[in-house]
Amino acid sequence: MPTEAALTIETCLKLSPRPKIVFMPTLRQGFDGSSVGNNVITLDPRVSVIRTLLHELIHVARPLWSERRVILEERRLWKPATWQDKAELYKMLGRAHIWTGEGTVPELIEENVQ
Ligand SMILES: [Zn+2]
Repeated sequence: MPTEAALTIETCLKLSPRPKIVFMPTLRQGFDGSSVGNNVITLDPRVSVIRTLLHELIHVARPLWSERRVILEERRLWKPATWQDKAELYKMLGRAHIWTGEGTVPELIEENVQ
């Protein structure tokens, strides 16, 4: 079975097409972030979002990886991450959308297709 190469934070930051990030209050549903479809990431802004963002970027970059593999990769990348890497993750959030309370995640994916 071929294994895909390990990632770098830079790879996650430069995914193309760029994932659409949507802030959504999902904590009550039991998750602080998710990646749905191939290119939409939701984040609950009430938790430490940049590590969650990194986790979801790994899902986008490696959609076939299991949750366990993604968690291991997240730990591997997070440990040596510099303050500049973390700043770049925060910068990515500057392009995030805020959920308006209308629409569902599948609709967000549809919008992303345009
Ligand atoms: Zn995950």
